[in-house]
Amino acid sequence: MRVAVVGAGIVGACTAWALVRKGAEVSLFERKHPMTETSRASSKLLHGGLRYLEGGHLCLVRKSLQARAVWLQQAPHLCEPLQLLLPVYADVGRPRWIVGMGIRLYDLLARGSGFPKGRWLSAEEVATLQPGLLRKGLQGAYAFYDAQMDDQALGNWVIEQFCAAGGTLQCEHEIAQIDALSGFDRIVNAAGPWALDLRRTQPGPPSYALDWVRGSHIVLDRPCPAAMLLQIPGEKRIFFVLPRRNQTLIGTTEVRQPGPDNPGPSEKEIDYLLDAHNHYLTPVALRSDMVEAFSGVRPLLRSADNPSDATREWAFERVGKVLHIYGGKWTTAQLQGEEAATRILQ
Ligand SMILES: Cc1cc2nc3c(=O)[nH]c(=O)nc-3n(C[C@H](O)[C@H](O)[C@H](O)COP(=O)(O)OP(=O)(O)OC[C@H]3O[C@@H](n4cnc5c(N)ncnc54)[C@H](O)[C@@H]3O)c2cc1C
Repeated sequence: MRVAVVGAGIVGACTAWALVRKGAEVSLFERKHPMTETSRASSKLLHGGLRYLEGGHLCLVRKSLQARAVWLQQAPHLCEPLQLLLPVYADVGRPRWIVGMGIRLYDLLARGSGFPKGRWLSAEEVATLQPGLLRKGLQGAYAFYDAQMDDQALGNWVIEQFCAAGGTLQCEHEIAQIDALSGFDRIVNAAGPWALDLRRTQPGPPSYALDWVRGSHIVLDRPCPAAMLLQIPGEKRIFFVLPRRNQTLIGTTEVRQPGPDNPGPSEKEIDYLLDAHNHYLTPVALRSDMVEAFSGVRPLLRSADNPSDATREWAFERVGKVLHIYGGKWTTAQLQGEEAATRILQ
């Protein structure tokens, strides 16, 4: 079976790799180079997504937690467990009992994946781990585990596995329309944010709609003593403060945009992230402390008015010999790829 996969982000890479493992002859087409779009602009977390529990997405969280463990087994040189603190304040944000229940449920869903369980830390213990954290009202923090990776390096490792297994990668090769691949037995559209552009080159309306939600990060040139999840002041949203190569990664935003192209982080998003950081942490961060700002566009299945509540699940649409993939997460890309490969070879 000769199969063409369009898009060498993490979803296309994992799908192509799964297909060669199943014996297909696979060509992976990428209009730029692998991992140059959304897949390298992530928060670099392999995670279940603690916050998705609030939305009741238990199945997705369970799948993601298992997928997290698989990445760590396969590529321990490119990802590692990470302890995150979730501070609890007296009058602001979610109360301790709710956070505690979430952590216990997260542990339960991660059962068997080999990660340590979450635990409560006193305010004094938290201050030792993160001396710059706002102390007013601080009751303590839950410490729990996820994993951290270098998205570009791990994504390129998948590409290497694909090529070593006999797959062919064709870079700087844009597929303008599905018809251009008519010589193949099967085609997979893994163009991420651009998946609908390709779908529209086939007849009929697409079965799914996408929400294009930009997320931005900033990087501060200072070490981050402890990874943290904090609530944006005055909002329900949370943001991350994470260590990254002796620097501090802060993100993310959620800005709905009308199409898939990435305009980069706006001034407003940068201020939003700096303000959120400075509400909780000293020394305060100025623009001059920033060494980088980047953004990516999430291709989310349209499912909610508020992008924060939108599902991170994925969906497939089969049109003739073409399988279109919509939505998903970095962490679960191997599951998506396996499922896509099984479906397209049927
Ligand atoms: C700010 C942010 C933070 C995130 N953080 C996390 C996280 O910490 N953990 C997590 O699990 N998930 C995270 N995600 C989600 C995750 O990054 C995405 O779900 C995932 O990267 C999407 O991958 P993709 O392969 O679908 O898309 P992409 O990586 O965008 O890949 C699509 C590829 O298709 C190519 N392409 C498009 N059209 C064509 C064409 N016509 N011909 C040839 N090539 C084409 C593009 O050039 C691109 O390389 C985050 C997302 C964002 C935006």
